[in-house]
Amino acid sequence: MLEINNLHAELETDADVTILKGLTLSIKPGEVHAIMGPNGSGKSTLSYVLSGKDGYSVTAGSAMLEGVDLLEMEPEERAAAGLFLAFQYPVEIPGVGNMTFLRTAVNAQRKARGEEELSAGDFLKEVRAKAKDLQIDADMLKRPVNVGFSGGEKKRNEILQMAMLEPKMCILDETDSGLDVDAMKLVADGVNALRSENRSFLVITHYQRLLDHIKPDFVHILADGKIIKSGGPELALEVENNGYADILAGAA
Ligand code: ADP
Ligand code: MG
Ligand code: MG
Repeated sequence: MLEINNLHAELETDADVTILKGLTLSIKPGEVHAIMGPNGSGKSTLSYVLSGKDGYSVTAGSAMLEGVDLLEMEPEERAAAGLFLAFQYPVEIPGVGNMTFLRTAVNAQRKARGEEELSAGDFLKEVRAKAKDLQIDADMLKRPVNVGFSGGEKKRNEILQMAMLEPKMCILDETDSGLDVDAMKLVADGVNALRSENRSFLVITHYQRLLDHIKPDFVHILADGKIIKSGGPELALEVENNGYADILAGAA
């Protein structure tokens, strides 16, 4: 599904700081991978580079989605190809109603896939059902996208976007940060409901507790722009119990 090989990327500042320093990761259809790592190790940078955000340049390596070069595509093309990113800080879009935003995004996606637009009635039925599962009320669907939403509401709204878009490769960057236990459970249930044999997830998280709810197949530790250790869910428990120091020392 997603093949990242020896990815090097820098932040385009005056100093051109290199942040990703040879990151390699392979995710097969249906798999759930988690990335953990100390602050500043490059986790968000990875999601930004994969999404095609401005301000980053890839200096070496590759990232392919289903065999197609992601890095050559515009951000919209990446989304149309089935990539979805839920960011650590969801953007607010004043003046654009949440429902309108969702409908535009869903129809753009369908068009890119050569499918017909959803009728207004079908769209409404679907969005209401999915919003209900995430405890998003009708009022939140009408308000401008994320404006005045609490942290938890923004994250749930991102999961709603993901559920509506039905992407193939979902990347969640610290979707659990700032969530209380109940909101985290809702988000995790939303993700679990979308798990399927032809959809993959990359869950970036600081805390093991999210992984109690979203059980990953593989856990990777990112440090200083590289994956320094990979394992199963037990690796997340090791981090929870002992921190990163032992793993960092072991890799040095
Ligand atoms: P993580 O998500 O793992 O905490 P990030 O990908 O956000 O890490 O950041 C990786 C590194 O890039 C950090 O050292 C951070 O200080 C640096 N960085 C990120 N954004 C900027 C910026 N706008 N200017 C300078 N350095 C930055
Ligand atoms: Mg540059
Ligand atoms: Mg981050």
